[in-house]
Amino acid sequence: MAAPLPRPPVVLSIAGSDPSGGAGIQADLKTCSALGAYGTCVITALTAQSTRGVTHVHEVPTEIVRAQVETLVADVHVEVVKLGMLASVAIVEMVHELLVTGPLATVPVVLDPVMVSTSGSRLLAPDAVAAVRALLPRADVITPNLPEAAVLLGEDTVGTVDGLRGQAQRLLDLGARRVLLTGGHLEGDASVDLWADAGGSVPIEAPRIATSSTHGTGCTLSSAIAALRPRHEDWLSAVLEAKAWLTEALRHGDSLDIGGGPGPVHH
Ligand code: PLP
Repeated sequence: MAAPLPRPPVVLSIAGSDPSGGAGIQADLKTCSALGAYGTCVITALTAQSTRGVTHVHEVPTEIVRAQVETLVADVHVEVVKLGMLASVAIVEMVHELLVTGPLATVPVVLDPVMVSTSGSRLLAPDAVAAVRALLPRADVITPNLPEAAVLLGEDTVGTVDGLRGQAQRLLDLGARRVLLTGGHLEGDASVDLWADAGGSVPIEAPRIATSSTHGTGCTLSSAIAALRPRHEDWLSAVLEAKAWLTEALRHGDSLDIGGGPGPVHH
C-alpha cells in the first residue's frame, strides 16, 4: 500500500513536448497530478504532433537544457527524476553530466529510453544510442519496451517471456541496476512485463486491455513509477502500483475520444 506523505513529492521530468497531450512531458505532468506528486519539467525537444503522428522535432539547445535544470534545482528540491525523450547525443551527454557531477548527482532516476514513437518517428538520433547505453548505470530503474531493449542490446526483438528474461539479464550485464522490461508488444491474453534486478526476475502480469488508446503508455508508466516511489519502501512495490494504475488508465482511454489516431490513456 502507498504511504501517505505530508506533502506531494517533487518529480522532475526531463523529456520532450507532445502538443496532443498524450505522451512526453504533458503525460508526465498529468500522471504526477493524478498520483499525488508535484510535477516539474525540463523540455529537451518540441515535437509537432497529434494522435496521428509526429511531423517535426525541434531540439532545445543543450545550454538551455542545462539552464532549465540549474535554475529549477537552485530553488526546488527534486526527489525523483524521470528521463524521457532526450533526442540527441549532445542532450543525452549534457543530462548525464548534470546527473553525475551536476546538481542532480544524488537524485534517484527512472529512465525511459525513448527511441521511436509508435507511429514510427525517431525521437532519439541513431548515433545517440551509445550515449543512452552509457547512462544505464546512473538510472535506478530503466523501463524499456521490447523494441527499445533490442536497440540497447544490438539484438533482435524477442517474442517470448523466456526471451524477456534473457534480455533483462543482458541489460543488467550492461550496467542497468533494475529493469522493468515492458512486454506490451508480446502476443497473448495477458500483458506481461518482467522486473529484474540483482536478486532475480519477477513477471508482472495484468489483463491485456483491448484498446487502441495506447499513445503515451511508456511515458505514463515511467512517470507513475517516479511519482509513486517516495510513497513506497522499494522500487518494486512502486512499480506494481504504477502498473495496476496504468491498466486502469488503459481501460478508460477510449472514453476520451481524442483525435483520429491512437488516443491517450485516461486517468
Ligand atoms: N512524443 C514524445 C515527446 C514522447 O516522449 C513519446 C514517448 O516516449 C512519444 C511521442 C511517443 O509516444 P507513443 O509511442 O506512445 O505514441
